[in-house]
Amino acid sequence: MSTGFSKGQVIRAESDRYRVLTEEGEVPCRLRGRIKKEEQGRLRNVVVGDRVHILLTGPDDDPARDGVIEEVLPRDNFLSRASAGRGRREQTLIANIDRVIAVMSARQPDFNAGFLDRLLVASSQRRIDSLLCLNKCDLLGRDEIEKLVEPYRLAGYPVLLGSALSGEGLDSLAAEMKDRVSIFLGPSGSGKSSLLHRIQPGLEIATGEVSESTGKGRHTTSYTQIHALDSGGFLADSPGMREFSLWKIPARELSGYFPEFRDYSYGCHFPDCSHSHEPRCSLREAVENGKVNNTRYKSYLTILQDLNAPS
Ligand code: GDP
Ligand code: ZN
Repeated sequence: MSTGFSKGQVIRAESDRYRVLTEEGEVPCRLRGRIKKEEQGRLRNVVVGDRVHILLTGPDDDPARDGVIEEVLPRDNFLSRASAGRGRREQTLIANIDRVIAVMSARQPDFNAGFLDRLLVASSQRRIDSLLCLNKCDLLGRDEIEKLVEPYRLAGYPVLLGSALSGEGLDSLAAEMKDRVSIFLGPSGSGKSSLLHRIQPGLEIATGEVSESTGKGRHTTSYTQIHALDSGGFLADSPGMREFSLWKIPARELSGYFPEFRDYSYGCHFPDCSHSHEPRCSLREAVENGKVNNTRYKSYLTILQDLNAPS
């Protein structure tokens, strides 16, 4: 490995330790104090997926050299949420990705539309494509499954039905991940690690809960990691999450992140219609006429309320 600077991509971030993939291999890295200081209310300034410059330390011929992240290159995109617990901060989950794969379970735990809708909003705000993968389809009847996913199909999201247990849908899921950088996001227990194990056995996966109900002094113990897939793509897994809370999205932008609302919201009487209480709201009419799914609309109202609540 040559001396001095090297360019690479962060493939694992765990407390203050990073792993950076360079042309010459993986290098364990720490963060330059200057970059750490820039954190400004974020939980983490350098995240998995970031392209970085590192300074290699130690003698040239030492194969176990490590490095210091000196510079983070501009991101194509990134995804964040509000951290859990008191004193909410922005938690950037990943940078430079092609696709969010929202992994939800049909049952055990029950389908979590609140999590899903917020995640889809966050991805859409950052212009990141998303796909819904409904796992554990072995646990629910077809009709009920279709009822769960229909609103998302109508909204235009690609939907995959699968089961890490029975193997249903795994080929399609693997095909979607080929030659792309994707991240699995979904509630704890929805089956993300199981799916990944089935698609590529033998990967070392970050399991375990993030302690989310944090009081002071407790923090995340697991980490996010990017795996190179044999198929040519890359998949990031993420630490367990119970909820997905949005980080500072302006309330007036929210309806724009529900793709199926777009055809209606321009028809409202008031240009700043929030589609919640105003008269002559064409979106609400569309809901009443069954053109827009009522559950998604209710979800919109709940999220709107969250965004308007003082934090
Ligand atoms: P993660 O927290 O999202 O990574 O979820 P896990 O992969 O750890 O799965 C949580 C639990 O659900 C485990 O006990 C799995 O065996 C089980 N599980 C995962 N996928 C399926 C599935 O498709 N069907 C059924 N019945 N159980 C599943
Ligand atoms: Zn309206």
